[in-house]
Amino acid sequence: MPDHLIDLRSDTVTQPTPQMRRAMAEAEVGDDVFGDDPTVIALEERAADLLGKEAGLFVASGTMGNLVCQMAHVPRGGEIIAEAESHIVHDEAAGHAVVVGASVRTLPARADGTMDPAAIRAAFRDPSDSHEPITALVCLENTHGHSMGQPLTTDYTAEVAAIAHERGVPLHVDGARIFNAAVALGVPARDLVGAADSVSFCLSKGLACPVGSVVVGAREFIWKARRARKLLGGGMRQAGVIAAAGSVALRDGPEGMIDRLAEDHQNASRLAHGLAAMPGIEGLDPDRVRTDFVLFQVGPPDAGTRPRAAFLDALAQDGVLMVEYPHRQIRAVTHHGIETTDIERVLSACRRALAAALTAGVTR
Ligand SMILES: *Cc1c(COP(=O)(O)O)cnc(C)c1O
Repeated sequence: MPDHLIDLRSDTVTQPTPQMRRAMAEAEVGDDVFGDDPTVIALEERAADLLGKEAGLFVASGTMGNLVCQMAHVPRGGEIIAEAESHIVHDEAAGHAVVVGASVRTLPARADGTMDPAAIRAAFRDPSDSHEPITALVCLENTHGHSMGQPLTTDYTAEVAAIAHERGVPLHVDGARIFNAAVALGVPARDLVGAADSVSFCLSKGLACPVGSVVVGAREFIWKARRARKLLGGGMRQAGVIAAAGSVALRDGPEGMIDRLAEDHQNASRLAHGLAAMPGIEGLDPDRVRTDFVLFQVGPPDAGTRPRAAFLDALAQDGVLMVEYPHRQIRAVTHHGIETTDIERVLSACRRALAAALTAGVTR
């Protein structure tokens, strides 16, 4: 058996750093529902500053972050324009319908993770027609997961914001991995979301914190989001204990976790180039790997999902974990704790697993 597990299922498996644990142990705390927790306030202010917005709100998860933003922006019976395989549409238990009371109008993503601006324009409902829902929000996801973590550019975000704003509709960016996008594009995160009305980002993914997300936007919007958080049961008391890790992650300098995301992107690219050279790996153009996601298939399209299952089993026996992803794909995500030397071990394990997988395909 291998000496340690290499877990590439997600960047959510990251562990807090020693500096985070120390900051958590020593955090000055208060009752955050009374607005008394200095550590939560410091995190919210730092996040708002980094993203160029007036105010921030610490929430339990990215899902809660997106949900409070939808609640703050969208009236019951409103409609949200979003990408068909985005997290908000695909992975949040239909919170838009159950809690917000909104419908979603979905549009497909192109290979670069964007929706066609002309299609976005055409997706707006006619507010003068009493039959139709009222378009109340446009959402973008940056990075965009299902296109293999493509970063959306400042110009594209501004273009979509202009389309929405012309019609008096706000733009929300689900920026779960917005700092990955900023690092990949080499632009400050605040530029990337300058045109957006709200942004939610995760501390608990590549930034390696144990818990939490932050929502940012204008002061009045954040007040509505705060009320929505309370409604959802997300008002936490001495939350500074967990917020302290977030403040470490957002620091400049070596204890911060933003700049080092570039290492994850390099490791993902290295992994993708190694994989793409192996016969039997399909659907992977390694030059499309821009951030921490690698998506690929095992065996030809007519082989079904058995080669994938055999591949993942064989990998796990070798101490390497990856995860199933839609469209017969496998996902590997690089993150803090995965070193370049680990990638070499992963590639050797993949070579062995492929032999097992392709046999499974042949004998199905
Ligand atoms: C992970 C993720 C979320 C939600 O985060 P949780 O903290 O798991 O609720 C939202 N959007 C995207 C794009 C994500 O990848």
